[in-house]
Amino acid sequence: MLKDTIYTIPISDVFEPRCGCPICLMRDMLENRNVEYVMGAAMMEPDIRVQTNKYGFCTEHFSMIVVQKNRLSLALMLETHLDELNKKHFPLNVKKGEATPANTCYVCNEISASMDKMLETILTLYFADSSFKKLVNEQEFFCYQHYELLVKKASVKLNKKQSAIFIKDITEITRKYLLSLRDDVHSFSKMFDYRNANIAEKSDDVKFSLERAISFLTGR
Ligand SMILES: [Zn+2]
Ligand SMILES: [Zn+2]
Repeated sequence: MLKDTIYTIPISDVFEPRCGCPICLMRDMLENRNVEYVMGAAMMEPDIRVQTNKYGFCTEHFSMIVVQKNRLSLALMLETHLDELNKKHFPLNVKKGEATPANTCYVCNEISASMDKMLETILTLYFADSSFKKLVNEQEFFCYQHYELLVKKASVKLNKKQSAIFIKDITEITRKYLLSLRDDVHSFSKMFDYRNANIAEKSDDVKFSLERAISFLTGR
């Protein structure tokens, strides 16, 4: 797989399913591709190695990397990463406001750079292509993390008028879902009331409402 194709995902692929948060789906796809790439083809790319040596990985991405098949790749990468830490960051020199290798991640960096570009494309398409606008408004929901990301991006990228329209539209979708989720969590609590003990089986939406609420809040 070429490097360029790892970092771009057709926007329609994440919006077409109309199921769950499309930006979570985009993040998951970018994440999987990056992790596979780091453990595969990237091993042969000295410039990628320079970056993985420099930034390392966060706990979440290390745990995805460690279950990949290629143990030799991982060993080689860890070896040079440890060497680099030893050479350049040992003892650690903490400068105010500067990220240290203890809290940077190559995969996180790559995902956020790709997402940034893709979010810009989404905002541009929203006002250029009415069928895409319709598709965005047919989404089940945006998780709160990505709702925040979209609102922030819209307020810097779009003009005042467009930004107001876009934010109003996605707020409507997100709030509608939040309220239905809130009702499901409420029904879940009601199951603990003895007066409701013989109410027939709850729907899956209610049964999994706590997990769904956490996923809505965290984007995971
Ligand atoms: Zn999301
Ligand atoms: Zn990470």
